Amino acid sequence: MIGIQDDTHNFQTRTARFVLALCLLLLVLAGSACPRNDKGPGPRVGVSEQPAETKTPVSGATAFNGERAMDHVRKQMDFGPRVAGSAQLGKTRDYIISTFRDSGIKIITDEFNAATPIGDRKMVNITGEISGESKDVIIISSHYDTKLFTNMQFVGANDPGASVATLLEIGRVLGANQQKPKFTYWLVFFDGEEAFCEGWDQCGKPDAPDNTYGSRRYVTQLRNSNELGRIRALILLDMMGYKNLELGRDDMSTRWLQDIVWRTAHDLGYGKYFVDRPEGVGDDDHEPFLRAGIDALDLIQLSGYPYWHRADDTADKVSPQSMKIVGDVVLGSVPRIEQYLESKGR
Ligand SMILES: [Zn+2]
Repeated sequence: MIGIQDDTHNFQTRTARFVLALCLLLLVLAGSACPRNDKGPGPRVGVSEQPAETKTPVSGATAFNGERAMDHVRKQMDFGPRVAGSAQLGKTRDYIISTFRDSGIKIITDEFNAATPIGDRKMVNITGEISGESKDVIIISSHYDTKLFTNMQFVGANDPGASVATLLEIGRVLGANQQKPKFTYWLVFFDGEEAFCEGWDQCGKPDAPDNTYGSRRYVTQLRNSNELGRIRALILLDMMGYKNLELGRDDMSTRWLQDIVWRTAHDLGYGKYFVDRPEGVGDDDHEPFLRAGIDALDLIQLSGYPYWHRADDTADKVSPQSMKIVGDVVLGSVPRIEQYLESKGR
């Protein structure tokens, strides 16, 4: 799937031989039955139980390059503040599109008009498509706009510079794979996640929030084109590049998806960065998807990021290592997510 298949296969073969040898030994010693190498009647999801699917071995070395991701962060810093509807966000959009085109990824854009508290704004969602054997879709996503501030220069290195950069680099790795993936991947950049008013809920009405413009539009479009059912899972990246990385469990997110990602982080030796404390996020771009019945996970460090929505959310707060950790974990989780979804059926 992600350029690690040969290693994984060898590992699986070695592991299978080892398990077989161990079973034969146990049979001789105790006459006990060995576990079968199948998944049984279906996935079990629980807080204390590890889903069987997460036992798929993972390799720690993916082709994700933290320095390349850091270059993408610096490029966004060069553009300056990147508020929805601004020329600077237009430059960011061109950069995202040309970076994905270089990786051979098909681009779909959706331009729309959003009514905001400061008037109508043009917004554009960007989707990079890597088509798979199945039309079923796994979305990996980030917002790409920065929050509007009139009293300071806000460049958002971590919010959302790092998640945009990480998604671009994940796209490069997935796009470089010669083998067609099992599922279709949509790498989505949402416009207009940030509120125009200072507070998240300050200016919105229940039926027209002043935030998540792009993700709400995305779900509406999927519903209108009868494609909502194609989306099997969504992973959202948001503020995950802090040099002192520590991601808690967002309490809105779908548990089985979160468990697979946390287990993968642990298996890759990144367990200390994916901790078991709850992360209260409130809404984010995954919320419209959850509301539409789509399983979704937000990877976000909100409470533990001291520079959130501050002028010093600058490139020195973000590290190539943190982006690589998250990139490796997402790429390592993908085969396990596919396996879980396949075993679950529809
Ligand atoms: Zn923000």
